[in-house]
Amino acid sequence: MNTNRIRYHVGSHDLGLDTEYRVECVDTLDEAREWLRHDVEEVAVDVEDDTEFDAFLDRLDGLDIVGEHRIDAFVFFVRHVTDCGCPCDCAETGRECDGEHPREAAAEPQLADADDQGRSAFEFDGTQYAVFNTAGSDRDGLWAAAQVPAEGPVSASSDCLLAGMATREVAFARAVEKLRPTRLITFLPKRYASITTPREEREADEYPTVTADGWVVGWSTDGYAVLFENGKARAHIYREGPFIFATIHRAEGVGSDDLDGEWRFVETAAAAARAQILDARDRMNVEFFPVVVTALPDDEDHAPLLVDPAAARIVRAGDVREGDTMLACVLDVRGRMPQTDYFNDQYTAHPIPYSPSCGCGVCCLLADEPGPVVNLGDDNQWDVCDPMAASALVLIVPA
Ligand SMILES: [Zn+2]
Ligand SMILES: [Zn+2]
Ligand SMILES: [Zn+2]
Repeated sequence: MNTNRIRYHVGSHDLGLDTEYRVECVDTLDEAREWLRHDVEEVAVDVEDDTEFDAFLDRLDGLDIVGEHRIDAFVFFVRHVTDCGCPCDCAETGRECDGEHPREAAAEPQLADADDQGRSAFEFDGTQYAVFNTAGSDRDGLWAAAQVPAEGPVSASSDCLLAGMATREVAFARAVEKLRPTRLITFLPKRYASITTPREEREADEYPTVTADGWVVGWSTDGYAVLFENGKARAHIYREGPFIFATIHRAEGVGSDDLDGEWRFVETAAAAARAQILDARDRMNVEFFPVVVTALPDDEDHAPLLVDPAAARIVRAGDVREGDTMLACVLDVRGRMPQTDYFNDQYTAHPIPYSPSCGCGVCCLLADEPGPVVNLGDDNQWDVCDPMAASALVLIVPA
């Protein structure tokens, strides 16, 4: 299951008009570039003069694509979105979802004009809701939002989202705020302890159990919410008076941390907890290498640096990219922390596939290496292959 928080929305519209075509929601910037290219090419076919379109396509590869691009009378856009949660149809089609594939971007909900009873409808991910005034009830003059039932009239008691709002617009905005997290998290129905349940059973039932994959909120019979990730409880969310608090269980399984924030709804607090958990995991995935980086020796054996040493960093050889400048390998010093060992001359990496039977006389030396091996290329001042264990650490200045 892919849980990248960032995705990209790619689409277009006529200058000065709303978007009326499908907006694509894609997982990476490279994919966004391909959809943008595709969109521009499609529109270019239908215009009389495609000069501007061709010029745009020519420079597309080097372009920072996030933002709007005006071509002729059209605007093409790539929007950087966080936790958009645009739904896919994998559940309906029975396809196994990797979470990464492109899908149609979910439309922003729009509040329709009021009908003859003063109610305004809006749609959120295929479900109909209505915003209406509760005048005549004990909430005189205030606004509520509720799901429109399949049959019968909508009322504050039928699937109510919220009530007691000062205006129609506020009720709509708050309803959308409360619904948005449902794109990322499944909220199970609340459970209530019945006073007729014997006490022992009631206690056994207090904590929710969730075994489903993905992000799910279950409710205790006491009314607090538990956020689960793949069946594992990750956060507690509870209300005290007007305030909502969220506590995240540490990944190591010991202790918990309170999350700072002010939330109007348990739903938005749960979404914030999910974001916090995913961000913390991303930070954990950044590798830190304990290496002593020495200065370049100032002697005749080492050519002076042609790159800024402040930009240097330690990476694994397997992560070296085309054009990176190679400065040093990392040597294990017995009983001490590993240390950089500068090459006599810096060189540029041009990685090529590694083959132990290359025949150069160097590649064969790593044939028995237990893990994967990479070849940083033979396009260097010595014209020899540069094979290394992919896990080996090197000091480079990224291209
Ligand atoms: Zn999206
Ligand atoms: Zn899917
Ligand atoms: Zn070779």
